[in-house]
Amino acid sequence: MSDPIEPPRLGEPYLLTPGPLTTAYATKAAMLRDWGSWDGDFRAMTAEMRARLTAMLGAGGEAYDCVPMQGSGTFAVEAMLGSFVPPGGHALVLANGAYGQRAARALSYLGRRHTLLDKGDYLPPRGVEVSEILSENQDITHVVAIHCETSSGILNPLGEIAEAVARAGRRLLIDAMSSFGAVPIDPEEIRFEALVSSANKCIEGVPGFGFVLARKETLEAAAGNSHSLSLDLHAQWAYMEATGQWRFTPPTHAVAAFLEALRLHEAEGGVTGRGARYAENRDVLVPGMRALGFETLLAERWLSPIITTFFCPADPAFSFARFYEAMKARGFIIYPGKLTEVDSFRLGHIGQVDAQMMRDVVRAVREALEEMGVASAAPPESAMRERARLEA
Ligand SMILES: *Cc1c(COP(=O)(O)O)cnc(C)c1O
Repeated sequence: MSDPIEPPRLGEPYLLTPGPLTTAYATKAAMLRDWGSWDGDFRAMTAEMRARLTAMLGAGGEAYDCVPMQGSGTFAVEAMLGSFVPPGGHALVLANGAYGQRAARALSYLGRRHTLLDKGDYLPPRGVEVSEILSENQDITHVVAIHCETSSGILNPLGEIAEAVARAGRRLLIDAMSSFGAVPIDPEEIRFEALVSSANKCIEGVPGFGFVLARKETLEAAAGNSHSLSLDLHAQWAYMEATGQWRFTPPTHAVAAFLEALRLHEAEGGVTGRGARYAENRDVLVPGMRALGFETLLAERWLSPIITTFFCPADPAFSFARFYEAMKARGFIIYPGKLTEVDSFRLGHIGQVDAQMMRDVVRAVREALEEMGVASAAPPESAMRERARLEA
């Protein structure tokens, strides 16, 4: 394994966000030429990318194929839902945050029948709940699960969810946007039809496209399902298989950057190496923040290696807007919270950041609090009471 982190060369702030995120210089530099989308060189790049992504599933990946899709991650989610949930289907959406809610909204737009299990901001959907709903609703054909719900940072228990879905003979679609590449998803252990992720999350590419890893038989059976010309995964797949090309203008530079990012991912030790660095980042950041008085939204066992949500301090001297500017002045772009009930902010620990930088982040947070005159970073008591109540 090589040391993956190099010092920044361009002097821009670090992005402590869940994507776009801080990319390696080599990844940015890979974009400094132009490619013809029709040309054999670019077709070879597309083929290599698809093969590398499928290989990341391990031996069980043989049954899957990779279909890239232009646009941000949401475009690929919508493509997956519209292509694989047929017009007469019925999807159960497991939501515990903004991305689960978004999947349900996409199904509404697509006119696909769906049922929502909404666990709020704090808690994971459990296998037993899924089993219960599926046995009471025999007409549910698909289950949509969010692996890491990036709006809180919770890592949902995909194993028990997949087991419940498989036992009931239904089909699992996974939004693995912010986990794929850093948290293992092995089809020999977790049975699923398709998962979706994007270029600018744990593989550390630049934004521009998403990709779906789907069973070949699922792709074959998806002809005619999609409501949309441009988001039809079956059509994109069939055309790519036949010609090696994307159906419409591909994000050539983003693909070139992504290939470099995939090589760096492999050099770091693949999913295991990448996941270990992100976990170490969290394990330095979270205790450092707690030592300053901050509390995490989630109980220890649900913290992901991707991003962590902290409650805003109750101290009236704290202002998120001032905190943001104070952190930016110290070289770090942070991320607002996305919770419905309490004030929070998020610190991502993915991208080209390592444990040393996490120590620098904690120091910057301490300085920012001093600058604002915040005496204690402790959250409001109501937030901690609510958390305890929901965990009970
Ligand atoms: C990032 C992300 C998405 C996609 O968001 P875009 O802004 O469209 O790229 C979807 N689901 C999850 C869980 C995500 O983290």
